[in-house]
Amino acid sequence: MNKIIVANLKMNLNYNEALNYGDILRKYNYDNIIVCPSNIHIDLMHKYGVVVGAQDAYYLNKGAYTGEVSFYQLKDLVKYCIIGHSERRTLFNESNEIIKDKIASCFFNKIIPILCIGETKEEYDNKKTFEIVEEQIKDLNISGEIIIAYEPVYSIGTGIIPNDDGIDNVHTYIKKRFKEIYNIDIKVLYGGSVNLDNCKDICNIESVDGLLIGGASIDVNNLIEIYKKVNL
Ligand code: PEP
Repeated sequence: MNKIIVANLKMNLNYNEALNYGDILRKYNYDNIIVCPSNIHIDLMHKYGVVVGAQDAYYLNKGAYTGEVSFYQLKDLVKYCIIGHSERRTLFNESNEIIKDKIASCFFNKIIPILCIGETKEEYDNKKTFEIVEEQIKDLNISGEIIIAYEPVYSIGTGIIPNDDGIDNVHTYIKKRFKEIYNIDIKVLYGGSVNLDNCKDICNIESVDGLLIGGASIDVNNLIEIYKKVNL
């Protein structure tokens, strides 16, 4: 089974850069690469045949919410949506409650949520990792496929990565808890400072089903090299 590679392009590419990105990627036609561009580039990536995810959306379907884009509006263009990224949680004050509403809206609109969870450095130092993860995965209303991305907050964009056992223990815990609470088997991706040098070793951890990549995915050729190293 190929490892899933999710590219979170965040707020980076302009229109021409996005065109180039999609154009290069479509020539490879790889399974299991999901690209999450800015909303304004979703349509062009979709037309290029790229498997597309959104980076976030608003939980209500329609209405007077100037500036927002809903899952309902995205549903014919994206297969996935990142939910609860740590930048949304910290910079935009997204609580676990809002995140639950977004997950429910994903299911309603037949979009597969990629739910990001993970502890801060302080929580890690205070040995609260499992408590935080439990808080982030409990009381979800699951009615379809969901993917979890374990992204320790202190790992995002910092070059700091937990050791293999650290990743494996949390991934194994998440899978076990989803089975116990919701009776489903789920895929768990690792995210945080993944690059071409470390991607293979991280993917060799059995409980890692794939990677969520930020910085190292902005260059499409680098993303393709990561995909090849991990999967070919
Ligand atoms: C992310 O923002 O989800 C992420 C994993 O970023 P980076 O790969 O740059 O650490």
